[in-house]
Amino acid sequence: MRIGILKEAAAGETRVALLPESLKGLRAQGIDVVVEADAGLAAGASDQAYIDAGAAVTTDRASILSGSDVLPVVNAPDAADQAQIRPGAVVIGFLKPLDAPAALTTAIDAGVTLFSMELIPRITRAQSMDALSSMATVAGYKAVVMAADRLPRLFPMLMTAAGTIPPARVFVIGAGVAGLQAIATARRLGAVVEAYDVRAAAGEQVRSLGAKFLDVDLGGINTEGGGGYAAELTEEALDRGRDLIVKTAAHSDVIVTTALVPGRPAPRLIRREAVEAMRPGSVLVDLAAPAGGNCALTQPGVTQEMGGVTLLAPLNLPAEVPVHASQLYARNVLNFLGLIVKKGELTIDIADEVLAGACVAHQGKPVNARVAKLLEAEQPVARSQ
Ligand code: NAD
Repeated sequence: MRIGILKEAAAGETRVALLPESLKGLRAQGIDVVVEADAGLAAGASDQAYIDAGAAVTTDRASILSGSDVLPVVNAPDAADQAQIRPGAVVIGFLKPLDAPAALTTAIDAGVTLFSMELIPRITRAQSMDALSSMATVAGYKAVVMAADRLPRLFPMLMTAAGTIPPARVFVIGAGVAGLQAIATARRLGAVVEAYDVRAAAGEQVRSLGAKFLDVDLGGINTEGGGGYAAELTEEALDRGRDLIVKTAAHSDVIVTTALVPGRPAPRLIRREAVEAMRPGSVLVDLAAPAGGNCALTQPGVTQEMGGVTLLAPLNLPAEVPVHASQLYARNVLNFLGLIVKKGELTIDIADEVLAGACVAHQGKPVNARVAKLLEAEQPVARSQ
């Protein structure tokens, strides 16, 4: 059996799916590992380090694509790459099956088995494979560090002979994995932190990190979707959050916003009015930018200055911390591989709850029901392209 590790082709991507340290257990099972030259360089792993770990390194990308039984990736290979993968081979990575299912049809039609990190069920057994949480942790940390770097103020309260400097005030919107890490990081830097989330359960976690939870009366509606995620709210319920955000923005130096609803555009929570209420020099980091953004003024991927307020809308923050993002991701990938590789052989039990949930397609057919529905809705033209 052969595992192939590609150099990620997406612009700005610096992560790699497996590191040299990941290979020991695979090599011990007699699995060959072939790595594309420079695949791990930006993540701190030289070609020599992969060779020392027992892998072969090549510049021949096509031979990795066509000769591998398993291709762990960070991002989905493009259609030209997909066309070279052999039928029955497995690709595992952030494949965006709910956002861009049509981009996977070349591989699906060729009988490649696709597992998506985004679809791994959030059950206890699969926690060690939860790459979304790993990347959200990195992004939440980095968002605060970026904001601290941009802010023309200090974060901690300082008492000096020249007088006292008050602490920065940070407002975190969406207290899921990224939001909680943003809160913890801002607290470590000495900021005073407030946070808002529609899920009441988030309140206790926010308070346990030493931040204030801002409650909004949403009239007792259900705010929880399945699997610990938020439900999509009505405009009326969203408006109550928007009003709170305008009020809180006026005294916040930094806003980090992370609110998401899986498979839906990010909720537009921050009105222009809220940005205008912020003091000059304030910083807003919209971590929901890849899903369109939480702020009405966000342009995904673009940094803007508006009335002295800086609005950052990064599209791939984990790629700015490639060493640790790759380390965490590689561990998630390895744990997933443990489900499909036994004693050096590929054994896919598609009835397994984790595999069935994460599987985009197997043997030419969609497996995950949500993805199957989306693919069905695709234009017949797109399917045949
Ligand atoms: P996410 O990235 O989908 O969303 C981020 C946050 O935005 C969530 O907390 C959500 O409630 C919030 N949000 C959505 N709409 C909002 C709105 N209109 N206003 C304010 N906030 C809004 O979520 P996530 O970070 O991936 O995780 C959500 C929850 O799932 C967390 O409680 C987390 O602890 C839990 N979780 C469980 C497991 C597991 O059981 N294996 C793994 C990871 C996370």
